[in-house]
Amino acid sequence: MAKKAKKKAARPAARKTATKRTSAKKTSAKSGNGGKFVYLFGKKTDGNGTMKPLLGGKGANLAEMCRIGLPVPPGFTITTEVCTYYYDHKRSYPSPLQGQMKAGVSAIEKQTGKKFGDLKNPLLVSVRSGARDSMPGMMDTILNLGLNDQTVEALANKTNNPRFAWDCYRRFVQMYGDVVLGVQKRPDEDHEPFETVIETLKHERYHKDFEDTKLTVEDLKELVARFKALVKERAGKNFPASPWDQLMGAISAVFGSWMNDRAIVYRRKYNIPTEWGTAVNVQAMVYGNTGDDSGSGVAFTRNPANGAKEFYGEFLINAQGEDVVAGVRTPEPVAELKKQMPKAYQELERIRQTLERHFKDVQDFEFTIEDGIVYMLQTRNGKRTAMAALKFSMDMCKEKLIDWKTAVMRNPADQLEQLLAPVFDVSEVAKAKAIATGLPAGPGAASGRIYLNADRAVTAADKGEKVLLVRVETSPEDLRGMIAAEGILTARGGVSSHAALVARQMGKVCVCGAAAVEVNYHARTVTVDGQKFNEGDWMSIDGTAGKVFAGQVKTAPSEIVAGLLDDDEGAKKTEKFKSFQQLMKWCDQATRMSVRTNADTPEQTQNAIAFGAVGIGLCRTEHMFFEGNRIDAMREMILAETLEARKAALAKLLPYQREDFAGIFRALKGYPATIRFLDPPLHEFLPHTPELQQDLAKKLGVTAQKIHSRVEQLHEFNPMLGFRGCRLGIGYPEISEMQARAVFEAAALVQKEGIKVKPEIMIPLVGFKKELDLQIEVVHKAAREVQAEQKVKLNYLVGTMIEIPRGALTADEIAQSAEFFSFGTNDLTQTGLGMSRDDSGSFLPAYTELEIVKNNPFATIDQTGVGQLVDIAVTKGRQTRPDIKLGICGEHGGDPSSIHFFEKVGLDYVSCSPYRVPVARLAAAQARLSSK
Ligand code: PEP
Ligand code: MG
Repeated sequence: MAKKAKKKAARPAARKTATKRTSAKKTSAKSGNGGKFVYLFGKKTDGNGTMKPLLGGKGANLAEMCRIGLPVPPGFTITTEVCTYYYDHKRSYPSPLQGQMKAGVSAIEKQTGKKFGDLKNPLLVSVRSGARDSMPGMMDTILNLGLNDQTVEALANKTNNPRFAWDCYRRFVQMYGDVVLGVQKRPDEDHEPFETVIETLKHERYHKDFEDTKLTVEDLKELVARFKALVKERAGKNFPASPWDQLMGAISAVFGSWMNDRAIVYRRKYNIPTEWGTAVNVQAMVYGNTGDDSGSGVAFTRNPANGAKEFYGEFLINAQGEDVVAGVRTPEPVAELKKQMPKAYQELERIRQTLERHFKDVQDFEFTIEDGIVYMLQTRNGKRTAMAALKFSMDMCKEKLIDWKTAVMRNPADQLEQLLAPVFDVSEVAKAKAIATGLPAGPGAASGRIYLNADRAVTAADKGEKVLLVRVETSPEDLRGMIAAEGILTARGGVSSHAALVARQMGKVCVCGAAAVEVNYHARTVTVDGQKFNEGDWMSIDGTAGKVFAGQVKTAPSEIVAGLLDDDEGAKKTEKFKSFQQLMKWCDQATRMSVRTNADTPEQTQNAIAFGAVGIGLCRTEHMFFEGNRIDAMREMILAETLEARKAALAKLLPYQREDFAGIFRALKGYPATIRFLDPPLHEFLPHTPELQQDLAKKLGVTAQKIHSRVEQLHEFNPMLGFRGCRLGIGYPEISEMQARAVFEAAALVQKEGIKVKPEIMIPLVGFKKELDLQIEVVHKAAREVQAEQKVKLNYLVGTMIEIPRGALTADEIAQSAEFFSFGTNDLTQTGLGMSRDDSGSFLPAYTELEIVKNNPFATIDQTGVGQLVDIAVTKGRQTRPDIKLGICGEHGGDPSSIHFFEKVGLDYVSCSPYRVPVARLAAAQARLSSK
């Protein structure tokens, strides 16, 4: 049990989660939907917004937008069941699919008046993925599909715009080559090979770099030829000319991308089950690249970074959608459209309002303007930072778009900690020099050593360095680096660039599009205004203000922490603070379970109460023995050879314990405190190196040999299953006696000061009723004595932890003696799974990788296994003692998804570390609201 006793109940480390890859349910050719694999949208719309599991988020919302009369180009959705079938049947398709797709294409042809592969008026389509939950940038998209050497000419003639036609064609070959035929950057390349071809042509022909929009028809024709040659060389085959072959290839690529590395990493991070699969959307193209009356954009109905109620987004004139998100050209803010295309802007403003009224949530949508006409390509609930989520929920409630319960549900509990994250110290920022500015894409403050590539960023972070990932722009390949980094800085790209999007969702601090930042991948340097930074140098970014600083800038607590913990009046006046308080008030209104804290000091207790805890759910008394010179008395007690000697050492510890408990009782101001008696194996308190043993020998006036042999004597092969928990108190009742006396003396003292005290003494690691009974006797005896000595009446409970399977299974017997149970889910997981909580690090990553376990079971409770033990103990405990108080104090008490489980099984409270208290309050309220 390495360092168990020294573990502080402070902020928990980032928790790992993972996704299960269970074998997908078999989907037969005749699906649950009567063999229907293709759903139309357009004039005739088969689906609707509630069908996300079958049609994916994108498909369902395209259908919904058609239903509410928004301008959506026609198309069809191939269901997620086809994806499941595809993986279950060696990457093949159900036989009715082809026919249904043909009918789908005909429906598009009818509505557009164009024909797929036609030599007069060719229909081009986009092929896009669309999972149930959006996975931005993780899977593949193909635009302009249907072009070949003949149809490109037809498109040029029909539109009278050869430049446009050839621009579409070169984009298509590039995208298809990359996504379907796998012509991608090799590990030794810093740039995409197609981009390199473009750069080379520009330099050959014009000796300079310039925007792609300035390429001539001749340039584009040459690019198509060179792209095809590149495909031939790298993929070893010709570029497919038949539109149907192209379509089938694209669909397979989209389904294939469900299992690409970045999608797998993403699903793990966000707990998206593999078996959900993705849908594929095939849709008539509309063109944002026909000239200066056209464009593409991405917009949010409100600001997703800070929550402001403003039309927020960006667009590029004469561009297709991927240009906006790829960050290759920096787009203009959507407000600019008002000047440049007032009619289209007005239409977008109308759409913005329709979307919010209909979906009653902030929408993130993609649009294309073709010759002045606006088309909608997608809408989804916008990803948002925790700050924006809070503001949206407050504002929309005020606007009566949603009620307060929905407002509570709209704040993701696992993001709430972002609001408590530090910001830059105001005085330090005033001293620091901002060297560049960019878009504030992910609020918060981050300082770190810069790394210019994801792999090196991950390696540095693994070594414990604080890392800032700096890129010209990010792409999905950078995901691992982004996860590892404290913050992300990009030189190019707008608020809907990949960097901004991912940062927003992960809650990473991010500044993007800081144009003054020159990144040189080759030299591994960043230059800003002549100042050069090498990889490993410090930089800092303020993702709330969009500023970049040289060096390390000190951080300060967030307004919420400053207001709650430091009583900072200025902080309390901020909107962020007030909104947070309102949210917490609503949580209290909604919740059934209360939230306590795991705290061992008055300061931790105070903090937790300021965060809204209503008591201590676990005070690990062993932590108190490490302070100052108490450890010496503790060691003396352990080394004692006689009862008298042990009692003498314990007598030295008693005043310390009493003082600690008194401080905690005062900080609690009448709230209850569950105090757990000594739990870890004794050897954890002893020095293990010869030098430290020598030091202790000197202090205690004994030989080093004596200490060494006592340490040897206490050695255990499985200390976690050894002489620990209540076994210590049973072996040495005088230890429990001292602890009980310290608790009651402190209680008497504080009660006399006029403060209510409610101690709840908790015996650890109980598996047999008799174990508890023996300890209860000691506790009651001490209580009787202290009450008589101090002439007070004390109100206390005695209960137990349920943390080993036998305790859970015999909870009916144990409840005869226990007045409360607190589930020690750390040990219950360890013993229930037979997996050491300290050693599982060596194989758990592989277990999550192989999807043997869905999540790290020490972070998120294993509901099917360990959860059953909890459930049994709850039922049996209540059978014996209907009013038994039930709580949980393992690490799972601060984990939102575990909290939902604890609500379901009917616990009275959860207990977690102080900084997780707000998260637990929110999760408990949400669990209650969603259980009704
Ligand atoms: C537990 O086992 O869940 C618990 C809270 O106790 P500890 O972590 O101190 O063993
Ligand atoms: Mg335990």
